[in-house]
Amino acid sequence: MTDVSGSEEVVDGVRRYDASANSTAGGNGPAAGTGAGAMLRLIRDGRASTRAELVALTGLARSTVAQRMDALLAQRLVIPAGASASTGGRPPKTFAFNRNAGVVLAADLGATHSRVAVTDLAGDVMVETREDVAIAEGPDAVLGWLEATFDSLLAESDHSRADVRGVGVGLPGPVEFATGTPVAPPIMPGWDGYGVSARLRERYGAPVLVDNDVNIMALGEYWARWRDTAHLLFVKVGTGIGCGVITDGRIHRGAQGAAGDIGHIHVPDHDDVICRCGNLGCLEAIAGGGAMAARLTEAGITADNSRDVVRHVRDGRPEAMRLVRQAGRELGGVLASAVNFFNPGVIVIGGDIAHADEHLLAGVREVVYRRSTALATRSIRIARSTLDDRAGVIGAAVMVIEAVLSPDAVDQAIAAS
Ligand SMILES: [Zn+2]
Repeated sequence: MTDVSGSEEVVDGVRRYDASANSTAGGNGPAAGTGAGAMLRLIRDGRASTRAELVALTGLARSTVAQRMDALLAQRLVIPAGASASTGGRPPKTFAFNRNAGVVLAADLGATHSRVAVTDLAGDVMVETREDVAIAEGPDAVLGWLEATFDSLLAESDHSRADVRGVGVGLPGPVEFATGTPVAPPIMPGWDGYGVSARLRERYGAPVLVDNDVNIMALGEYWARWRDTAHLLFVKVGTGIGCGVITDGRIHRGAQGAAGDIGHIHVPDHDDVICRCGNLGCLEAIAGGGAMAARLTEAGITADNSRDVVRHVRDGRPEAMRLVRQAGRELGGVLASAVNFFNPGVIVIGGDIAHADEHLLAGVREVVYRRSTALATRSIRIARSTLDDRAGVIGAAVMVIEAVLSPDAVDQAIAAS
């Protein structure tokens, strides 16, 4: 052990990952810029595959690069990948990131159903399952089920707990990210203050990151399709409305983890509508799937939830189509302000109501393009989610991978070995 870190440090390790996950690109300090972890980043990004390329990119001495590559090889994070083409002499050895140097456990726990996966270190799903589980059954029942599911997926993919590099979990409520603890989640009785990440860390002996489901969905969408667009808004329109904010390729959580809570932004001319939060005229109380289901039912078209609303739209009921398009306009009004404020490159719309054909997106586009400034909308794209209900589980895995393979985390792991 060359590092002072003992087992206690694992707890702090998660906090350090937190800090680095919120820092901007390149803001990891001078040591991280040239350490072994920084070299791994260059190899993972496809910017370097030989020692000569690493020397050229980092400006370090050849012997220093060789030493750091040896450390990465010893950690199995990098593997030899054969020889590259050369213009003469002995072809240089090439190296590749070893995506099989461990696995990640990822879970997206929803209100009524959950998706759980084992991924490799590139975020590709190896095995996964989806099951109906009510989050309202409480943490003991749900996390007991989750642990059993993780264990059986590990066995199915021929891995053991020793292979686990990290665990990522999304929850359908507010989460204090630094401690991995739900904070007064409205639809999760028994979960307030429960140490989700502490429990899973004890079992798997690896870093555990827990976040709000909309944040991880945003990260999953970004990773899967929009990595060339550093600034992204992901809007989930289900029973309620939530928004995940990606800035410089990272989740923006805000001071209290409440960033992107657009469901409770006030919409003009709707002060007759009371929201579940107690305020009047919230976006969610007007344009959320739950609100639309209630309005359809009042009009004599029975709808219990957002999926029923979508079913009525697909059945061609004009009332349902009008309602969803108008909800799109109300959402568009709030997003037009967000576009002027944040200037995203893309807005991705997901959640149940996004399945209502083009009606929701048409309403959003109509208002965003009319109301946002010309400069902010010049190249903005407004697209439907591509990962759909897999966005959360992919995002949970990516969140963990970006933390445990960050330059700082890799340097610390090498120092501690
Ligand atoms: Zn509200």
